[in-house]
Amino acid sequence: MSETTETPTNFGLSQDHRDLQAWVHQFAADVVRPAAAEWDEKEEFPWPVLEEAAKIGLYSVDFMATQAFDPTGLGIPVFLEELFWGDAGIGLAITGTSLAAAGLSGNGTEEQVMEWLPQMFGEPGDLKVAAFCSSEPDAGSDVGAMRTRAIYDEKTDEWVINGTKTWATNGGIANVHVVTAVVDPDLRTRGQASFIIPPGTKGLSQGQKFHKHGIRASHTAEVVLDNVRIPGRCLLGGKEKLDARLARAREGASTGGANASMATFERTRPAVGAQAVGIARAAYETALDYAKTREQFGKAIVENQAVAFALADMKTSIDAARLLVHRAAWMASQGLPFEAAEGSMSKLFAGETAVKVTTQAMQILGGNGFTREYPVERWSRDAKIYTIFEGTSEIQRLVIARSISGASIR
Ligand SMILES: Cc1cc2nc3c(=O)[nH]c(=O)nc-3n(C[C@H](O)[C@H](O)[C@H](O)COP(=O)(O)OP(=O)(O)OC[C@H]3O[C@@H](n4cnc5c(N)ncnc54)[C@H](O)[C@@H]3O)c2cc1C
Repeated sequence: MSETTETPTNFGLSQDHRDLQAWVHQFAADVVRPAAAEWDEKEEFPWPVLEEAAKIGLYSVDFMATQAFDPTGLGIPVFLEELFWGDAGIGLAITGTSLAAAGLSGNGTEEQVMEWLPQMFGEPGDLKVAAFCSSEPDAGSDVGAMRTRAIYDEKTDEWVINGTKTWATNGGIANVHVVTAVVDPDLRTRGQASFIIPPGTKGLSQGQKFHKHGIRASHTAEVVLDNVRIPGRCLLGGKEKLDARLARAREGASTGGANASMATFERTRPAVGAQAVGIARAAYETALDYAKTREQFGKAIVENQAVAFALADMKTSIDAARLLVHRAAWMASQGLPFEAAEGSMSKLFAGETAVKVTTQAMQILGGNGFTREYPVERWSRDAKIYTIFEGTSEIQRLVIARSISGASIR
């Protein structure tokens, strides 16, 4: 077990959280880390590792639901930090489905959640994954530029969807895809809705698979939707609710839609921050061990203030990032308003910390840090995505700046 469990940063953790931390840590150390370099090199989805996770109950509807209903909100960040301490690419392969699951549970009815959630995960021996497809070639940070169109066919009670999604984690290999699309172009983001694309639906295909800088065990691809026809019941939340929301938007009344999705992002961003903390901690621990054993000029390199101070800064940033993550996760669990965009703050700071700390760790390992003989260069490649996906660092700053100032900053 790493030293962080011994420090006062864990003052909020119950015995249950500590047990969870120890359990996931063991899986991360025994199964994930040893497999990490191989799947990074192969750049393939690590199905056998997912099977191992499912075997111990770590990849399952039950496990995700238990953590999601943790009354303190800390179960998810504790779990994610440990798993991503093992490896971020494999970590995302194991947790990518929960992004789609969050899209389903955030927008769907109870019946829709009951129907589709089990199909997102599958069963040990026949595991499935799910994908959440929102980004498009011309609509990344600017979600309002989305072009994928969904048109209702009243005669058959079907939705017909056309468009191209990009950068979708698990896109094309998923059993269930959750897709966002425009139902009323005049209403911009308020005219968008989410749909379930059931397994085996005709017209959905994988476009190009992306070859990436990091998190290479996680599958990222385009998803092409060519006259995809889905039953009316696949509109998340149902038609009545959508029609009422669109009517309010057309009257110019607030639908609460923009605020609701902003609140959802604030609640989910700490989870992404926790992943970044896991990567940073892995790099810091390795750099600390290395600095204590590597000798130059007749002494351990840690005895040089330049090296020791770098380690001090790394540890301080990681603990600060974890505190921001835990605060935001706890606030979400208590239903507190994010008046200063505390969720975005946690993701921003943790993502930037992961990039900085992994770079510093490479420096401390010298030549070894630059080779694939050591995992630090992989962690450095993996860390970079945390300033890009789930809202870039600039977008997080925009959200925080707007929240604290009330000004319409562009
Ligand atoms: C590996 C990976 C996995 C992903 N997984 C998913 C997924 O599962 N589902 C999904 O829907 N999407 C996913 N994404 C997409 C991801 O969320 C987007 O890449 C991200 O939102 C940024 O969009 P973009 O790449 O189009 O960049 P752009 O929006 O084009 O941004 C380019 C640059 O401009 C800056 N910028 C843009 N607007 C502003 C502004 N107003 N002010 C200041 N700076 C600005 C950005 O910060 C960035 O630095 C994934 C991406 C990657 C790389």
